[in-house]
Amino acid sequence: MLIGSHVSFNKNSQLLGSVEEALKYGANAFMFYTGAPQNTNRCIIDKNNMNKAIILMNKNYIDYSNVVVHAPYIINLCNENNFSFSVKFLKEELKRCNILGIKKLVLHPGSHIGLGENIGLNYIIKGLNEVLDNTNYDVTILLETMSGKGTELGTSINQLKYIIDNIHDNKHIGVCLDTCHLNDSGINLEYFDDYLEEFDKLIGINKIGCIHINDSKNSINSHKDRHENIGFGTIGFNTLIKIIYNKKLENIPKILETPYVDKLYPPYKYEIEMIRNKKFNNNLLDEIKKHS
Ligand code: FE
Ligand code: FE
Ligand code: ZN
Repeated sequence: MLIGSHVSFNKNSQLLGSVEEALKYGANAFMFYTGAPQNTNRCIIDKNNMNKAIILMNKNYIDYSNVVVHAPYIINLCNENNFSFSVKFLKEELKRCNILGIKKLVLHPGSHIGLGENIGLNYIIKGLNEVLDNTNYDVTILLETMSGKGTELGTSINQLKYIIDNIHDNKHIGVCLDTCHLNDSGINLEYFDDYLEEFDKLIGINKIGCIHINDSKNSINSHKDRHENIGFGTIGFNTLIKIIYNKKLENIPKILETPYVDKLYPPYKYEIEMIRNKKFNNNLLDEIKKHS
């Protein structure tokens, strides 16, 4: 099983810091932002640090192809006023991934902010084509399934299919499933096999490059997007375990983006352990506070 969490990446410790954090959690995959998700300040990649990080990964049997970068939220390809900025920044982010040797970049498709679904989707297609037609990196952009908060797009298989079908460079586009977002967008994950079957028919399971494993604070179809710790939300432990251990998704990295306990203590080491044991611990959050 490939499992890990979101980890930090800062300008001083860079990739080496991220790997060290992932190892603390007992992870064999991880995800990071190349800088703060809300802004565009990005540091220059330190090659020396990177080499040390790769040696450390090799030593600990982390396959670097299971490490994922998340693009910042400020990219919105549907925002007319922001379009050229978003295209430019996404190109730079791909380049940064390429320098780092990262193969997968998760992207929120965009929010149409009142333009409507059709115009919004066409902006996303236009932007992605502009980025992918003018770059040639061995990096795949993974469109994340969204909850439908506000005017988010990428909330259904059909929307994602429409985008993907219109991308010229089809090899470099894929999908990142997010269990909290799927729940909040209206998918009953108790019947995840049915969802996966439909996904396979319309897009293809081979297009799934990453899965965000989160419980949800809200009910199905709430369009809220508030993550909850594993087993403490409305999706529940058993349903998430079934998704995590689904044979068809075996080789896809699973990334936790669950909230810190009391906004202070990272839960990932404990959640990963609980997932590996396949046994829900109702006292987990209290135990994390005690141990931290
Ligand atoms: Fe995301
Ligand atoms: Fe996510
Ligand atoms: Zn989310």
